[in-house]
Amino acid sequence: SGAKPWLRHYPAEVAPTYEYPKHNLAQFMIDSAHRYPQRNALHFMGANLTYRELLDASYRFAHALQDLGVLPGERVSIMLPNCPSAIIAYYGTLLMGGIVVMTNPLYVERELIHQLSDSEARVIVTLDLLFNRVQKAKVHTAIQHVIVTSIKDYLPFPKNLLYPIKMRKDGTPLRVVYGEGVHAFKKLLRAASNEPTCAVVDSDEDIALLQYTGGTTGFAKGVMLTHSNLIANTIQTSRWCYRREEGGDRFLGAIPVFHVFGLTVLLNQSMYQAGMLILIPRFDVDMILDTIHKLKPTIFPGAPTMYVGLINHKRAKELDLSSINICVSGSAPLPLEVQERFEELTHGRLIEGYGLTEASPVTHANPIWGFRKIGSIGLPFPDTDVKVVDSDTGEELPVGVIGEIAIKGPQVMKGYWKREKETAMTLKNGWLYTGDMGRMDEDGFFSIVDRKKDLIIAGGYNIYPREIEEVLYEHPAVLEAAVAGVPDEYRGETVKAFIVVKPGMTLTVQELDTWCRERLAAYKVPRKVEFRETLPKTMVGKVLRRKLLEDETTA
Ligand code: AMP
Repeated sequence: SGAKPWLRHYPAEVAPTYEYPKHNLAQFMIDSAHRYPQRNALHFMGANLTYRELLDASYRFAHALQDLGVLPGERVSIMLPNCPSAIIAYYGTLLMGGIVVMTNPLYVERELIHQLSDSEARVIVTLDLLFNRVQKAKVHTAIQHVIVTSIKDYLPFPKNLLYPIKMRKDGTPLRVVYGEGVHAFKKLLRAASNEPTCAVVDSDEDIALLQYTGGTTGFAKGVMLTHSNLIANTIQTSRWCYRREEGGDRFLGAIPVFHVFGLTVLLNQSMYQAGMLILIPRFDVDMILDTIHKLKPTIFPGAPTMYVGLINHKRAKELDLSSINICVSGSAPLPLEVQERFEELTHGRLIEGYGLTEASPVTHANPIWGFRKIGSIGLPFPDTDVKVVDSDTGEELPVGVIGEIAIKGPQVMKGYWKREKETAMTLKNGWLYTGDMGRMDEDGFFSIVDRKKDLIIAGGYNIYPREIEEVLYEHPAVLEAAVAGVPDEYRGETVKAFIVVKPGMTLTVQELDTWCRERLAAYKVPRKVEFRETLPKTMVGKVLRRKLLEDETTA
């Protein structure tokens, strides 16, 4: 595409193009640590870690991996909520030239086995609370080393405890058996060298992150993001949002760093700007309100559901939330009312952006201080070219016409891990076909109107119907199953299952719920179930999800 009408609406501070250094992604953190060794890099539930301490621990973790025999290019799974160990393991892995695989701590055994076997990771870093699950999954994978950390590792325990730590739900004490192949995180760090080390990488080719995202095949695919991809998106986002270079911004880390949105917009961003990252281990409105009031964060990236939760909380008006300056909302459409009420409450700017894992993830955002359009995902980022195409012919469509959004830029992935066919279908001549349907207006602002892929976005979580349908089909009493997203006031969308039971068999909602809970992370489990005689289908027998939803709205 030639014209790039969006450049006209860039604020004066944003350039259409930037230079991106070619080095290890971890170099951002090293540079900040050299410049500001005493500055707090991380804050976690009352405890601080300075840049010097973070750098020291990261060097140690890199050496510890080498001591375990991990080689450059090998995958290291990090299955942790937001906590200092997750950040140390991330940088330690990058520093020794390894590939980080971020693993969702909500994953149940089945999901975990898939991700660990597909990535062929030999090492996993996890939490004592998740140890049992990891041990059970481990035998089906190539995992040889489990490194176990505890929330307690970084707390000034037991005093100063801002929030109670939950032990295992059934009340049993946590019991991690250390020994062959099971290591204590802190002990491993203590035993390792803190000699500076930073693997030289071919930043355009070498993968820094293997990030799994749901797929139409029913199982998640690994998105290969290079050092250059993540460096570019960090700089693009930083330049877009923040005019102060190293102004000591404080980032409110409420979104998880195991998702690429959190990884780039929170972690990489904060380390690049020598900011302070406040790590919140799980989304809890009370905890977040108290944190804003006490620690005065300036930047708060989130998903619409989080902002909805905050504005509707009864304590929101009593506390001082005025430190919040910039909020970038991604993952799902941001309702106007939410934006207005949040801005009134905090006096900050809440803008909508857009992205996807395959683009590291950000490709569009509304200008922060300049002209913005409500209901739009905003303008393409610097160095990012975007076109709207006819999905069938690949032809570029004119202004205002709806088509599939395709993206080209330095943040676009290298491809899917070990899946050449899927890569070829998604990446064509350097253009990333997003599967999202939208249009561009004459000012170069884009909006999303539909999804080509059947993604459901519930409470900021992305859920792929195919994966849930496969679990439903495995149930002995299920003849047919279809899953779709239905509107939900709080979560935006929620998962609904439509089921046809086998003749002569019975099935209750409760039985189906139990079945799903054993096989899927809680956020994917259908909240609504409807039993039907038949499901509407196309001529070739494909279930018509759209038709199911039409019946839903007219019911
Ligand atoms: P993920 O790869 O898990 O980050 O999911 C990316 C998908 O989330 C995109 O392809 C979109 O379908 C959706 N998405 C992200 N941001 C927005 C937004 N602002 N509005 C609507 N959908 C969005």
